[in-house]
Parts: sequence; C-alpha cells; structure tokens
Amino acid sequence: MKKILKEFREFISRGNVLDMAVGVVIAAAFTGVVNAAVSGLVTPIVGLFIPNTTFAEWAPGGFAIGAFINALITFFVTAVVIFAIVKAVNAARKLSKKKEEEAPAAPTTKTCPYCLSDDVKIGAVKCPHCGSELPPEE
Ligand SMILES: [Zn+2]
Repeated sequence: MKKILKEFREFISRGNVLDMAVGVVIAAAFTGVVNAAVSGLVTPIVGLFIPNTTFAEWAPGGFAIGAFINALITFFVTAVVIFAIVKAVNAARKLSKKKEEEAPAAPTTKTCPYCLSDDVKIGAVKCPHCGSELPPEE
C-alpha cells in the first residue's frame, strides 16, 4: 500500500498530470458550450427546412435522426476546435524551443590568423601553436 501511494505521488508530481486534468475540465466545459451552440443555433436553422417539428426531435419512422445528426455536428465542431487548439499550442511550443536554440553557446576558442589553428583560447595574446602575437579581440 505504501508503495502504491509513493508511486501515485510520483505520478502526480510529474506535472503533466495536472496539465491533463486542466485539459479534461476545460474540454468538459467546452463540450457544454459546443452542445448549446449546435442545439441552440445550428439545428434550429436546419429545422426550418423540416416542417412541423424541431430538428432535434425529428425522428422519421421512429429513428432519432435529428438527435443523431446533432451529436455528429457537435462532435465535428469539437474535434475541429480541439485540433486548432492543439495546433496553436504546438506552434507556440515550437517557437519557444526555437528561441532557446537560437541563443548559441558563447565560443571558447578562436582561430589564429597566422597559422589558422582553430583551438586558440579566447583571451590568449599569443598563439600556442606558432607563437605569433594575436590581434586584440573586439
Ligand atoms: Zn598560430
């Protein structure tokens, strides 16, 4: 039991679990918004073309086609928006990664202009290979 508790704590403290939990909560709330938007805005418009009933209650021959199409539209809208969010997050991640990569490590060696040895330490005033006086660094 202690081992399981310890494993659970490690699992939680990894950080991405929290991210995931936030994602799940936001997704649940978002699904409600999409549901309301689809059943409140999209299907009434479609329902204008179906006489004598609302689209969500449209069930020719006992098949609840209206409710099914409602669910399909909700699914597609949710999928598209989630896809857009994931794409935006990925792009932002790539951008911040790129920024990190763009800052190159400061060089620690320079090239001697006389013998072209490229492992002369920055700050050296004489080349260790040919003994030439090196020009001052700018
Ligand atoms: Zn040299």
